[in-house]
Amino acid sequence: MSVRTVFGPVPSRRFGRSLGVDVIPRKLCTLDCVYCEVGRTDKRGLARREYIPTDIILKELRAALAAHPGVDCVTFSGSGEPTLHAGLGDLLRAARQMTSAPLVVLTNGTLLWKEDVRKDLTTADIVCPSLDAVSEDVFRRIDRPHPRLTAVQVIEGLVEFRRQFQGKMWLEVLFVLGMNDHDEEVWLLRQAIDRIAPDKVQINTVVRPPAEPWAHPVSHERLEQIRTMLGPRAEIISPTRERSCAPAHLPSDQEMLDVVARRPMSAVDVAAGLGVDSATVASALDALVASGRLRIVEFEGNRYYALPEAGFAVN
Ligand code: SF4
Repeated sequence: MSVRTVFGPVPSRRFGRSLGVDVIPRKLCTLDCVYCEVGRTDKRGLARREYIPTDIILKELRAALAAHPGVDCVTFSGSGEPTLHAGLGDLLRAARQMTSAPLVVLTNGTLLWKEDVRKDLTTADIVCPSLDAVSEDVFRRIDRPHPRLTAVQVIEGLVEFRRQFQGKMWLEVLFVLGMNDHDEEVWLLRQAIDRIAPDKVQINTVVRPPAEPWAHPVSHERLEQIRTMLGPRAEIISPTRERSCAPAHLPSDQEMLDVVARRPMSAVDVAAGLGVDSATVASALDALVASGRLRIVEFEGNRYYALPEAGFAVN
């Protein structure tokens, strides 16, 4: 199946209808997080390269913006760590010429200690890096980083980036039950957050099928306690809600496969992103399951659609 580098719009819990730009082939990342929605990391790397030609990505982005002029934002993320793309700065500058929609970069933040990465991100409006742990042992267990990465190095990179970056920085912390949700780690995170001083701290937990079946979500009650501990900038990201939208066109199989190719999605997720009603999309997704092009993944009592070859350990 051919997967395009620009996909969606997809529903984003933080940004509304987001046009996704996937600059990294599945699945190359600096980390192998136990909760990853994309599946297990095939290749952990730190080398920045033009893994997908910049001109191909820009051609697809231009066409997608023409087809979806009303998107809420353009988000650089996808099937791996986007700052590994050596042309990210060029991509953001070119995208800035094409649209006035906010340019968002979702990054795991592990390469912000590199000056070239910080420079590439200067054109973005919002950068959302992650920080899941401060203790090296917790960092290694939850994020399973490349052997040459340390939590100290990542935190120093975040501090330096915040000092230089003029746009908004929203730091995401994802909590996994029994891994990084104990008081001691939360207080260490609070100290690190106070040093980094992001505009917002967004608290998340495992809401879609994770790479490892034993990565479970933290209860809402515990997330509320953590929110208080992390201070006034912290907020809990709420789950995607179905938008009220008039039934429009039925998306093509390829449009739905492009969306689901990045991570497992419920029918409501796909419908909200593509601007159609979820009942219509659910039958179309079920037809793709029947033909073997998608499979069902159950997680926490909910049904998600994923590619047959996606690296999830759950059924
Ligand atoms: S969650 Fe993000 S940072 Fe972690 S392995 Fe997946 S793509 Fe990489």
